[in-house]
Amino acid sequence: MFTSVAGRTVVVTGGSKGIGKGIARVFAEAGANVVLSGRDVVAAATTAQELDELGGGAVSFVLADVASAADNTRLARTVAERHGGVDVVCANAGISPSAPLAAMTAADIDEVLGTNVKGAILTVQAFLPALVASGRGRVILTSSITGPATGVPGWSHYGASKAAMFGFMRTAAVELARDRVTVNAVLPGNVRAEGLAELSADYLNSVEAAIPMRRLGEVDEIGHAALFLASDEASYITGQALVVDGGQILPESPAALQVS
Ligand code: NAP
Repeated sequence: MFTSVAGRTVVVTGGSKGIGKGIARVFAEAGANVVLSGRDVVAAATTAQELDELGGGAVSFVLADVASAADNTRLARTVAERHGGVDVVCANAGISPSAPLAAMTAADIDEVLGTNVKGAILTVQAFLPALVASGRGRVILTSSITGPATGVPGWSHYGASKAAMFGFMRTAAVELARDRVTVNAVLPGNVRAEGLAELSADYLNSVEAAIPMRRLGEVDEIGHAALFLASDEASYITGQALVVDGGQILPESPAALQVS
């Protein structure tokens, strides 16, 4: 039986939709007080209310753009005012627009790296004093299999951003180890989230066919991985990545998928 996280304070950037919402729900159901962030007030308010009504920990929201240092500072200050500190920071907010390398603009690259990499670093930086004060601080980054493990045409800037999170994770893990703050990452495969909604059914069918479990992941399955990394029982794990992908990165060849 794992030690309960009830009463701990958890921040989930991009917690208003998709994987972040799944992470926020899993922590709230476990009794943690959750503050989720996003830029769209309707999505953030609706999700915070929905999760708060589950009857677990208190769930509230702050509107904040992860790419803005000032917004991250305000997010950290607001969380401190509401809950007196923070124990877990889930740097999850991210975007995944596609662009072929030949057509990619400098602005496209800035947007993706500015949100996914710079955003995650700024968020963690803003919460550093609170994480250290917690005495059992946890940082959980939402990376991806795309970049660290695989490549997909159209997502070279995205893949670069998700692999860059690894470099950040490893160095931050070393810097923060003596303060008993762990820094780990979850690497989702293809997960059923709002961010996938614009992809065609044909594309999603082809993705499912490439996954040994023959289905997309569910957002709560990423949430449970994050909950484990946030647990007291994961206290000696730092600088590590947990792949949650139904086996997607495993087959050595298309033939390896034909056995079952
Ligand atoms: P999603 O459904 O589009 O949700 C993205 C969330 O991030 C929303 O809450 C969004 O809220 C927020 N967000 C985006 N840009 C932001 C910004 N600049 N500042 C603050 N919040 C921002 O996407 P998702 O699929 O759940 O993806 C979540 C994370 O998982 C991302 O880091 C993504 O790279 C990663 N991931 C997803 C998959 C997948 O299959 N879905 C696979 C691997 C990794 P607002 O739009 O209101 O700001």
